[in-house]
Amino acid sequence: MNSQIELDNIVEVINRAKTIGIFTHVSPDGDAIGSSLGLYLGLKQLKKDVDVVVDEYSRCFHFLPAREDMKEEGRKEYDLAIALDCASQSRLFDPNDSFLHSKVTVSIDHHASNTYFANFNYVEDESPATCKTLIKVLKRLNVSINKEIGECLMAGIITDSGGFRYSTVDDETFEFAAQMLDVGVPISDIYYRTFDVKTKAQFELSSIATSRLTFYSKDRIAFTYITMEDLKKVKAAAGDHEGIVNIGRNIEGVEVSIFLREDEDGTYKVSFRSNDFVDVSEVAKMFDGGGHARAAGCTIDPPFEVAVKKLIKETVKRL
Ligand code: AMP
Ligand code: MN
Ligand code: MN
Repeated sequence: MNSQIELDNIVEVINRAKTIGIFTHVSPDGDAIGSSLGLYLGLKQLKKDVDVVVDEYSRCFHFLPAREDMKEEGRKEYDLAIALDCASQSRLFDPNDSFLHSKVTVSIDHHASNTYFANFNYVEDESPATCKTLIKVLKRLNVSINKEIGECLMAGIITDSGGFRYSTVDDETFEFAAQMLDVGVPISDIYYRTFDVKTKAQFELSSIATSRLTFYSKDRIAFTYITMEDLKKVKAAAGDHEGIVNIGRNIEGVEVSIFLREDEDGTYKVSFRSNDFVDVSEVAKMFDGGGHARAAGCTIDPPFEVAVKKLIKETVKRL
């Protein structure tokens, strides 16, 4: 489907809907939260009856406007359910299955691995963030992107682009940031809160993970992990593991960084990052995961040693 036509369709179904539910992926990051709140505020401006449903998230985003309106679950059904920053229905946080029961569904996203699971799908796989893709939708809906909406969108753009560092950042991204400065969005403050400030538990987890860094394939792969015991010991809260995968990635000569985190259910959540050429979404796909070329993830079963061996083996193949 031509994406321009799909955008037209999405604008039309949003204009037509009275009740709208906004959903995003489990373990929401800055882009998931920012795009959800940004669209929520935009649809409020259009006087829609709208809910925003978001899973537990890091307290570094507590400064965002309207976050107290977030709901833990959706209604039974909506005229329209919108999934943001989510590549597949199985990754969607939706405890009430509202998405499944809604009359019309839309997905707005920037994952190349998006499965086109909604009735209408607007996916820009070259976009640095769903928040950036959302600008087009909001403009087409004649929403005024004010300071509050701008704060939400900039939080997503800044975090998902590694602070304007990734190659997906284009002239439009900087132009939008400049416009947002003009309407009063405190960009340096958002940068500081989302990037520089670490919780104590986050700092402690980072030092544990740093002490366990192991290198493979002539130091081109860096690997580390944290266990449930570590998470309990430091009294970790949602999002306190964020940033650990970058420790390995930022070491000179490392192409792929792999970070494994034990989950409550005994499985391991895996984060992959690459620097120059390895498409880590391909590696993640081998384990039923997905993501982007330079940032991807999957879930893998224990035992630990077997899991690590498999992950390293699939990564080495692509070096
Ligand atoms: P993370 O390492 O958790 O920050 O995730 C990096 C990227 O991989 C994000 O774009 C996620 O959407 C994607 N991702 C993470 N885990 C999975 C998974 N189990 N299945 C599909 N995609 C994932
Ligand atoms: Mn995300
Ligand atoms: Mn994203």
